[in-house]
Amino acid sequence: MKICPECGAIYDGHRWVTEPSKELLRKLAKSKKEKALCPGCVRIEKQQVEGVVTLKGAFMDSHLDEVENLVNRVAKNGWHQNVSARIFEIKLEGGRLVIETTDEHLAERIGKEVEKAFKGDLKIKWQKKDRFVRVSWHRE
Ligand SMILES: [Zn+2]
Repeated sequence: MKICPECGAIYDGHRWVTEPSKELLRKLAKSKKEKALCPGCVRIEKQQVEGVVTLKGAFMDSHLDEVENLVNRVAKNGWHQNVSARIFEIKLEGGRLVIETTDEHLAERIGKEVEKAFKGDLKIKWQKKDRFVRVSWHRE
């Protein structure tokens, strides 16, 4: 079995797991462990960004924490479903939150979940034959 030294994901011989069952942990304890970067951490190392989400507007000034918490929650759920889907970087630039993701569908999902939770205007623009997405959300 393999363990990712960066994020702790476990490769069980078939797939990468981020929420190991007790059984898998038991197996892991008995087996020979090999360190290997998981596909998500490889993408982060290669700085492979496939989606950019920009969240802005006056609403952000008073609700930054709530929005950021939601983004992190969506990212964590996405990671459990797909080990390659990760936030590469999240930064605050002059009142706007800019999130770069290693997976285009994660960026899309973050935008949709923010719109669902906080209303506002969402725009999703697919580029490079749908291999890259720009998501922008705005609320005053
Ligand atoms: Zn990893």
